[in-house]
Amino acid sequence: MATIYYDDDANLQVLQGKTIAILGFGSQGHAHALNAHASGLDVVVGLREGSSSRADAEAAGLKVTSIADAAKAGDLVMVLLPDEIQGEVYATDVAPNLEPGNALAFAHGFNRVFHQVTPPEGVDVVMIAPKGPGHLVRRVFVEGGGVPCLVAVDVDATGEAMPRALAYAKAIGGTRGGALETTFREETETDLFGEQAVLCGGVSELMQAGFDTLVEAGYQPEIAYFECVHEMKLIVDLIYEGGFETMRHSISNTAEYGDYRTGKRIITEETRAEMRDVLEEIRNGTFAQEFLLENRVGQPRLKTERAASDRSLVATVGKRLRKMMSFIAS
Ligand code: NAD
Ligand code: MG
Repeated sequence: MATIYYDDDANLQVLQGKTIAILGFGSQGHAHALNAHASGLDVVVGLREGSSSRADAEAAGLKVTSIADAAKAGDLVMVLLPDEIQGEVYATDVAPNLEPGNALAFAHGFNRVFHQVTPPEGVDVVMIAPKGPGHLVRRVFVEGGGVPCLVAVDVDATGEAMPRALAYAKAIGGTRGGALETTFREETETDLFGEQAVLCGGVSELMQAGFDTLVEAGYQPEIAYFECVHEMKLIVDLIYEGGFETMRHSISNTAEYGDYRTGKRIITEETRAEMRDVLEEIRNGTFAQEFLLENRVGQPRLKTERAASDRSLVATVGKRLRKMMSFIAS
């Protein structure tokens, strides 16, 4: 079982009097910067020239500089840029500005695990990864709670890497919820596997296949959409609240019986074997290499697939149905 750290295990003083540089002011960046600032830490936000976030960050009372200047000022430098540009920005703006004794931090291990970032000697490398999107990290913190997070130490150059990671986790609210200890490799491989096989790839393709099956059989696409796409949220909410048990207690006996009878015919031994292959492609770097190349050549596959997905029948039908549901937009 994982080791979990709470507020009492973390000492904010480890980072007091130090400069915390937060690079990027997107989903995670804004939440980390605002929470750490509210926790009394000295925060500087590093943004690229012309960034549209500058005004927002300054209006919130935060200091803003270039990415390079923030990296220079920072005793702890947290990289919250899109994963696909971290390697490049790290090489040009961050690496030259790190000094022995600094800490380099990430919220996802991708670039470290797949060798896009090589930290200099004497620098701690840590991860503090909230298990939720930035707006939730911010909202829950303001309400007095905290979204649980993962913490990991990749390089402990100073002997202080874990206390520093835990102090940062405390500053953003993570140890209020609990900080689970992991490794860069475990976080990165499980994160990629989860989003590909289950959360994004698996779930969307499952819904799409169900929708297509009903439409091909002559049912109206609107009805198929409600049954195979829209209602997923009701089920997922029940699982989120109380696991499979709560979901299965809440659905009808008919639905529960059908669940046991049919689930394993859909996710077969063949699907599980494919999952193991997907995991292997993540672990041996095949996926990372492919994705880094895709970005180097201007994301052709991402753009094509995104456009096709936006034009599909399921997208068109969904858009129409959501117009009937004012409660969704609000
Ligand atoms: P994001 O896309 O929301 O924000 C990235 C920010 O980086 C932008 O807002 C901008 O300030 C800056 N930026 C964008 N392009 C840039 C460029 N070309 N040059 C310089 N700066 C640029 O990213 P995010 O979702 O906050 O992700 C940041 C990190 O946090 C990633 O490592 C991600 O894996 C990790 N993470 C994200 C989530 C999440 O739910 N979003 C959860 C946990 C961890
Ligand atoms: Mg993720």
